[in-house]
Amino acid sequence: MTWAAMMEGGVQINAQGQRFHNENHGYSEAAVEVLAQPGGIAWNVFDTPVLDLLQTFPDFVEAQANGALRSFADEAALAAHIGCDEAALRATLAAIEPGVPDRFGRSFKRKLAAPLHAVKVTGSLFHTQGGLDIDEQCRVLREDGTPLPNLLAAGGAARGVSGNEVWGYLTGNGLLSAVAGGWLAGGTVAAMLAQESS
Ligand SMILES: Cc1cc2nc3c(=O)[nH]c(=O)nc-3n(C[C@H](O)[C@H](O)[C@H](O)COP(=O)(O)OP(=O)(O)OC[C@H]3O[C@@H](n4cnc5c(N)ncnc54)[C@H](O)[C@@H]3O)c2cc1C
Repeated sequence: MTWAAMMEGGVQINAQGQRFHNENHGYSEAAVEVLAQPGGIAWNVFDTPVLDLLQTFPDFVEAQANGALRSFADEAALAAHIGCDEAALRATLAAIEPGVPDRFGRSFKRKLAAPLHAVKVTGSLFHTQGGLDIDEQCRVLREDGTPLPNLLAAGGAARGVSGNEVWGYLTGNGLLSAVAGGWLAGGTVAAMLAQESS
């Protein structure tokens, strides 16, 4: 949910007070980038207009109630919280030039304005993009492409629609392959049972 913050002008800052990638690429890509930072962590930093938007998301409100959000009057207070050099953080935020693509290829509509808000984040696995090879009926295939008898797979257990790379994931692909695959596999089971009893 704080990903909406990145799309609306928020940035990810590492423990050295620096940005490290184009935060608009997507959260699968971001997980890899964040895990490559010192300590495998970053802070999602945004301002009050973005916070107002985030507070329309029930999961953000829940995270906020659990203490995930910290607010700071200015860059100095945020730098003290992160434990980074204040000048480095100031330089990072000052480098945002609305309308001018930055060194990561990202364009901003505006600069962030204090007070600033931050959520500490890391990368985690919530969707797998590979699994057992299946056919269009969700039957698990051998290496030679023939189906194994009575073995079906769908969702996270089966090959996915996202491809092999982190950038292949689109929001919803996890549930899409689980729900659609489950429906297809159910049809296959029904057909197998009908064939057995006929
Ligand atoms: C925090 C988070 C947020 C996500 N947000 C999104 C999103 O916004 N959109 C989206 O599309 N996807 C999202 N996903 C991904 C999505 O939830 C998964 O891709 C999807 O749930 C996979 O479905 P599945 O049925 O294949 O597996 P699962 O949902 O993992 O179900 C597998 C089930 O099998 C059970 N199980 C495991 N081993 C055994 C065993 N030996 N015996 C019996 N039961 C067993 C498990 O307990 C589990 O209930 C999110 C995932 C996480 C973790």
